[in-house]
Amino acid sequence: MTIRYDAIVIGTGQAGPPLTARLSNAGMRVAIIERKSFGGTCVNTGCIPTKTLVASAYAAHLARRATEYGVTIGGQIQVDMNRVKARKDEIAGRSMEGVENWMRGLNDVTVYQGHARFNGPRTVRVNNELLEANKIFINVGGRALVPKMPGLEQVQYLTNSSMMDVDYLPEHLIVVGGSYIGLEFGQMYRRFGSKVTIVEMSERVIAREDEEVSKSVEEILGNEGIQMRLNAKCISVRKNGNRVVVGLDCADDNRQVEGSHLLLAVGRVPNTDDMGLDKAGVETDKLGYIKVDDQLRTNVPGIWALGDCNGKGAFTHTSYNDFEIVAANLLDNDPRKVSDRIMTYGLFIDPPLGRAGMTANQVKASGREALVATRPMKRVGRAVEKGETQGFMKVIVDAKSKEILGAAILGVTGDEVIHSILDVMYAKAPYTTISRAMHIHPTVSELLPTLLQELKPLG
Ligand SMILES: Cc1cc2nc3c(=O)[nH]c(=O)nc-3n(C[C@H](O)[C@H](O)[C@H](O)COP(=O)(O)OP(=O)(O)OC[C@H]3O[C@@H](n4cnc5c(N)ncnc54)[C@H](O)[C@@H]3O)c2cc1C
Repeated sequence: MTIRYDAIVIGTGQAGPPLTARLSNAGMRVAIIERKSFGGTCVNTGCIPTKTLVASAYAAHLARRATEYGVTIGGQIQVDMNRVKARKDEIAGRSMEGVENWMRGLNDVTVYQGHARFNGPRTVRVNNELLEANKIFINVGGRALVPKMPGLEQVQYLTNSSMMDVDYLPEHLIVVGGSYIGLEFGQMYRRFGSKVTIVEMSERVIAREDEEVSKSVEEILGNEGIQMRLNAKCISVRKNGNRVVVGLDCADDNRQVEGSHLLLAVGRVPNTDDMGLDKAGVETDKLGYIKVDDQLRTNVPGIWALGDCNGKGAFTHTSYNDFEIVAANLLDNDPRKVSDRIMTYGLFIDPPLGRAGMTANQVKASGREALVATRPMKRVGRAVEKGETQGFMKVIVDAKSKEILGAAILGVTGDEVIHSILDVMYAKAPYTTISRAMHIHPTVSELLPTLLQELKPLG
C-alpha cells in the first residue's frame, strides 16, 4: 500500500528539519526520513563536535601559556581525552536529540528511520513502506571521500566520522589533506599533545585562499610544532608493524613520514549514489552532485535538492540558506535565489579565519581595478592585550564602485569580525560606510574603519 503525503523530505541535515517545520506549519502532511543520526553531519560528525574539540584544545593551549599572563598553574598540563570526548558527546548528543524531538513533535509529520530510495519521480521507498508525494526534497548531504591511494586497503585509517570515537591520544597523527577539515583536526590534536604531520599535495595549504593566507596559516601551525609536508604529488601508504608509513613521492622512497595514526581529510562526496535517482530521472553531474537551478529545483518538476548534495555550497549556513530559498519561493511568494548570496565561511583553527567574497587572486583574474588594505594583527590593540597577535586583516574594494569585493580576517575573533564587512557587502554600500563609522574601543572590529582609510591599488 502506498502512503500519501503532501511532501517527503529525505535527510535531516541543516535544511530538511527547518523545511519540514515550515511545511507542517503551512498545514501540509509531511514524511521526513533519516537513515542514521538526526541532525546529520554538522551535528554529529562536523561543525558542532569539531568546535567543541577545538574549544578543549584552546583551553589546553592557553593553560600552557598561562605564565605569560602571570597565572601559575601547578604541575604539567594534562589532557584527559576521555573527558574531552565526553564533553563533545554531550554537546553534540543534546543537539541530535533536539532535532529528533523537534521533528517528532511537529503536527502531521511522520518520522521514518531508514535508507530512502526513489521508486519513481513521485515515490520513495523506506524500509518496507512506499511513500508518495507531489513534492520531494532531497537533503542527503555528503561523506568523507576515501581516495584511491596505493596501499590504503592494508592500513587502518580515520575519517572525520571515526575521529568522533577517538578517546585516546594518538602518538603521531598524520593528516592527509591540508584544507579546512585537516587543519582543524591537526591543530587540535597537536594541542592535545600528539605529534602531528600534515601531508598536502599542493605547494601550500588551503590552496584556494590567497598565498599570504596560506603562508600565515602554515606559520601559525608551524609555531606550534606541526610538521608540514607539502608538494606530496603522489601519496601512498603502507603498514610498518602497528605503524603507518605515508609515502610522499612515488619516484622517491626516501620522501616518507611514519606515524601511529592516519586521518584522511581529502574532500567530500555527495550521498547520492545509492538512492535510486535514476528511477526518478533526477540528473547529477559527474561528481554525483544533483543538478539544480537558482531556486534549487532539480530537472524533475516537484523534486528539489538542498545542502551539500547539490554542490552549491559545503557549509551549514549554505544548507540552511537553501532551506530559506526553497521556503521563500514555495510558501512566501518571495523569489529568493542562490545567486543572491555572497560566499562566506570560516576556518576554525586558532586564531580563526573569516572569509567573505572574492580572494585577491580572483579579483586580479577578473581584470577589474581594485584597491586593497592590509593590517597585521600585531597592530590591533585588542589582539595585543589578549596576547593573540598572529594573522592579519585584508579587505579588497572595487576602485570604481567603491563596493567591497572580498575580505580575509585571519586573527583573534576573525570569524566574528568578518560579518560587519559581509553585511555592508549585502547592502551593496560603499566601503566608506565602514571607514566613516565609529566602532567600540577596544575591539578587533574597531580597526576596520582605520584599515579602510589605508587602501592602495591592488598590485
Ligand atoms: C569535520 C567537519 C567540520 C565541519 N565544520 C563546519 C563548520 O565549522 N561550519 C560549517 O558551516 N560547516 C562545517 N562543515 C560542513 C557541514 O557539516 C555541512 O555542510 C552541513 O552539515 C550541511 O549538510 P547537509 O544539510 O547538506 O546534510 P548533512 O548534514 O550531511 O545531513 C544529511 C543527512 O541525510 C541522511 N541521509 C543520507 N542519505 C540518506 C538516505 N538515502 N535516506 C535517508 N537519509 C539519508 C544522512 O544520514 C544525514 O543525516 C563541516 C564538515 C565536516 C565534515
